[in-house]
Order: sequence, then C-alpha cells, then structure tokens
Amino acid sequence: MHPKTAFFDDAVHTMPRRELHEWYLKHERPLPWREDPRPYETWLCEVIMQQTRIDQGTAYWQKFVNRWPDFRSLANASVDDVLKEWQGLGYYSRARNLHKTAQIIHTDFPNSHPTALNDWLSMPGIGPYTAAAICSICFDTPVAAIDGNVLRVLSRFLGIHEPIDRPSGRKPLEEFANAWVDPENPGRHNQAIMELGALTCTPHAPDCANCPLQNACASQQMPHEKRNIPPFKQGKTKVIDVALNFHVIVHDTRVLMCKRPDDGVWGGLWAFPSTEHPFQNQVKPFDVPEALGNLLVDRGPCGSPVKHLLSHRKLHVQFWLWESPLKNTSDLGDWKTWEEAEALALPRVLERSWEDVKKSASQNASTTTA
Ligand code: SF4
Repeated sequence: MHPKTAFFDDAVHTMPRRELHEWYLKHERPLPWREDPRPYETWLCEVIMQQTRIDQGTAYWQKFVNRWPDFRSLANASVDDVLKEWQGLGYYSRARNLHKTAQIIHTDFPNSHPTALNDWLSMPGIGPYTAAAICSICFDTPVAAIDGNVLRVLSRFLGIHEPIDRPSGRKPLEEFANAWVDPENPGRHNQAIMELGALTCTPHAPDCANCPLQNACASQQMPHEKRNIPPFKQGKTKVIDVALNFHVIVHDTRVLMCKRPDDGVWGGLWAFPSTEHPFQNQVKPFDVPEALGNLLVDRGPCGSPVKHLLSHRKLHVQFWLWESPLKNTSDLGDWKTWEEAEALALPRVLERSWEDVKKSASQNASTTTA
C-alpha cells in the first residue's frame, strides 16, 4: 500500500470532480472526432495525436477519414499509400501499426470492432493510454487514460514532485487517476483532465486563477519555488550526433531510390541510398554501395547540408551527387524519374530538401533532371 493512500482516499472524496466537468462543458474545444465518438474515428485520432500538435493532427485525421472512412477500407489500402498519406507526421511506425491494426480488426471482427480493453491492448502500437482513451470514450470503460497532460495536472494537484519515469513518481499518480475516474462517464472525465492540461494547467504558465481545481490543488499551498513546477524525468535521453550522407545517384533522367527496411529509422519509406558515420568524422566517404563500385562519377556535394532532429539522434545531413553510366543496379533500389520519386512516401528531411537537391543535381550532372 502506498504510504499516502489515506490522503488519496480523502482526496478522491473531496476532489472537485463536478467543477471539473462543468468547466469542460464550457471550455471543450469543438474537435470533429468529438461530435459523435465512434471507435474508428477515436482510434485514428488517438494514434495520430501522439507526438503531434492538434492543429497539424486534425488536418491529417480529416485526410485519413475522407480517404478511408472505416476499418475495412483502411485494411484494404496498400501500406505505401498509408505511409504517403502519413508523410510529414514522423514516427512512421505509427502508420505501419495503424495499417496492421486495421487489417487485424477487419479479419477478427468483421463488420465490427473490439470493445474490451485487453483486445485493444493486444493490437500493434496500442499502449495503455490509447486503449484506455478508446474504451472510456467509446464504451464507458471506467479506466483512466493517462498521458503527459494528465500526469502534469495530477502531479501538481497532489503536490508530488518525484520523477515520473520512476515508479515512486508514476505509480501514485496512476493509482489516484484510476480511483478518481467517474464511473458514470469515464470518457468525459478523461477528456476533461486532458483538456485542462492542454488549455489551463499548461507546462510553463498554468492559469491557476481560472482553474476549477484551484481550491483543492496542493500546488497552491506550496512555497513559491515549488509551486506549479511541471513533472520531470530522471533518466534524460542522450542525443547522439550522426553524420548522414544521402547519395543522389543519377542516370540519364532518373534517380536511384531505395525502400528503407521496416525495422529502422523511416522504416518503409523511400529515400536515396545512405551511409552513416560518427559526426566528428564527417568527410565525404567513398562508401556508396559496392555494386556500383568505381563506375560512379563523383559530382561532389548536392544542395545544402541540413540538420534534422530525431528522438535520440541529431542528424547532420549532406547530399552527394553521383552519376552512374549504367542502370544495372536493380538490387539496390529502383530507378525513378524525379516526379515518380517525389510521389513516393519520403522522410520529412528529404521532403524539405527535395527542390534544393533536385535543382543542384540538374545543374551539376551532365545529364538532366527533366
Ligand atoms: S490550480 Fe494551477 S497548478 Fe493546480 S491544477 Fe489548476 S492550473 Fe494546475
């Protein structure tokens, strides 16, 4: 039993749940998936909104719903089309898992969908937060959906300042959240806390004067230096600097494109062949694939170098132009016209540099990009 259980029990009973719900009814943002919350639209929104701003995510949600309005149509889509529609959102494993989940649901729940928490938890890429959000909103399952917003609101409300990536910090917040869920309307309750975290109990400037929890919030009773501090993590992610060379290999009017393996960065997307090195050694390594060997003609840098941040790596990206006298390299990838290549599902870093690289290739190769 947690040493603060008695406090939690008191807090559960005195918690201003009603005030929170009234606040939500007044301040809820009118988002399209909230109008008539159904499993397909809710699932799609929860997956898209992970690591994504709501304005950007809403546009993607709308595109997906328009193109694939149900599990069946998404299951029957090609994974390349799904990745292309996802282009620009990042974290592409989400798109591949979205597609796999649609196929599983279409096969195992024909013309229907799972309703049990454990069934959702067994789907690819669905974790406790997403399963709880779907089941509480769509099926009234009384379980707390705990995301970063909820952890921030509750850690301040309870005055707990332990690291949230350690059991000592996270467990009491989860226990409290589950004890506090409104069994009558768990979906509304979960959405109300998340909305409070997004609009009022924000990371750096909480608007306590207009918060429905202010009278019971432990943070308000704390000394100034501890008041309103957001939760923190103890184990910080170490970001490594990596030099990434993209090899722009052209032949006549075509450029060589490779599909990246599913289990790596940008899995399933298309890109130029690439090599990586520790950043401090960034020189132009003659390390294009052996199959091309000495046949390639070196045309030097292609376009401007760019930096691109991933969750654990800072990429220092440089493009290098090569001309191939042969087109006999099908084991490395596919020769595409520039227009065909641009229509593929590309990583954001390529999308951003595409025009620059294409223009530079056109100016520096003896052949043409037209
Ligand atoms: S009173 Fe302030 S710190 Fe407490 S929950 Fe509300 S906004 Fe957050």
